[in-house]
Amino acid sequence: MKAVIVGGGIIGGAIAWRLARDGVAATVLERGRLGREASWAAAGMIAPQAEAQSAGLFFDLCMAGRRVFAATVERLIADSGVDPEYDAQGILYLALDAAEHAELTARARWHRECGALVEELSPAEARRLEPAISPAIVHALHFSDNRRVDNRKLTQAYVAAALAAGAAVRENARVDAIVTAGGRATGVRLDDGARLDADLVIIAAGAWSHEIRGLEGDRVRLFPVRGQILCFEARPRLLGPALFSPRGYLVPRRDGRILAGSTMEEAGYDQSVTLAGIEKIARGVAAMAPAIGELRFREAWAGLRPATRDLLPVLGPSPTAPNVIWATGHYRSGILLSALTGEVIADLVAGRRPAIDPAPFSAARFARDRVDL
Ligand SMILES: Cc1cc2nc3c(=O)[nH]c(=O)nc-3n(C[C@H](O)[C@H](O)[C@H](O)COP(=O)(O)OP(=O)(O)OC[C@H]3O[C@@H](n4cnc5c(N)ncnc54)[C@H](O)[C@@H]3O)c2cc1C
Repeated sequence: MKAVIVGGGIIGGAIAWRLARDGVAATVLERGRLGREASWAAAGMIAPQAEAQSAGLFFDLCMAGRRVFAATVERLIADSGVDPEYDAQGILYLALDAAEHAELTARARWHRECGALVEELSPAEARRLEPAISPAIVHALHFSDNRRVDNRKLTQAYVAAALAAGAAVRENARVDAIVTAGGRATGVRLDDGARLDADLVIIAAGAWSHEIRGLEGDRVRLFPVRGQILCFEARPRLLGPALFSPRGYLVPRRDGRILAGSTMEEAGYDQSVTLAGIEKIARGVAAMAPAIGELRFREAWAGLRPATRDLLPVLGPSPTAPNVIWATGHYRSGILLSALTGEVIADLVAGRRPAIDPAPFSAARFARDRVDL
């Protein structure tokens, strides 16, 4: 079977690796350079308990994402030779006032009811885990099995493992349209007019996924949500937990960088860093860990999270052409959900039962909905 994967971000890379291991001849087509969009810009948290706001479908998906990631990462390192820095210090979720304290207490309760690992900490206990947190902290949760990776290295790892398993990748290859005949895809057309035949096409083009022509009937639409990040320099290997709060987050890297994020902005496809974004992030940092204010500023960047209208990913066959598979719309959680997405898509292709029920994530939900976008 020949599969073309449109998009060389973390999702395209994870799918290519998983399909190649099943013996599928997978080719990733990337319009620019591999892994230079959202998958490059992210903070790299594998943090279902910080990300989901309530129990239910999305939380279950994220928890499955964490489980599959943890079960996969050793094999990925072995297959790729790339260490994505899957660090074990957990996530410290901070409350700075009474309302946030109440939210964290409620959050701990529903996490326990769902069987998730959570520890409630006094400010003094939290400070023992991370001395740099603000004296104003009133309460904290520790999610000890929510972790982080270097998402740039993780994307490289998926691509390297995919290549080692026999997949092919092409950069500077922009897909313009799906070529169909008799209600099925026969391949893709590139913007230079070249055609590539395929038995299966997977759309993993992030915030640009709906621009590929030929699937308009599916009514899948992606909305780019800009996120800015500021990066500071501390001493290498001075690693504590990542810090998270309603005001932002701080994520340390092994080489001493500390990433501070982020913003959630509707700015179209503009990937600028703005003064308003810098101000917002700086306020969050000052509230959570004012000592960061003394560190040397290194750089700032922005990326575009691929969001659907209901903020859930689109996973599974196109209602228009059943041998086209959507794998996009991962919004704020594409790093966390990368390994799970690879598994689910490979299972669907092979006719195996996936680890999660993909039905709620089908593109059919948009085709049914006649509201104009
Ligand atoms: C600031 C920020 C922080 C984040 N933090 C986290 C986090 O901590 N944890 C987490 O899990 N997630 C996080 N995310 C979300 C995560 O980055 C995304 O969900 C994920 O990277 C999406 O991966 P992707 O492969 O779908 O998209 P992308 O990485 O955007 O890749 C899509 C690729 O498709 C290519 N492409 C587009 N159109 C075409 C075409 N026509 N032909 C060929 N190629 C095409 C693009 O060039 C691009 O390389 C964050 C995102 C941002 C912006």
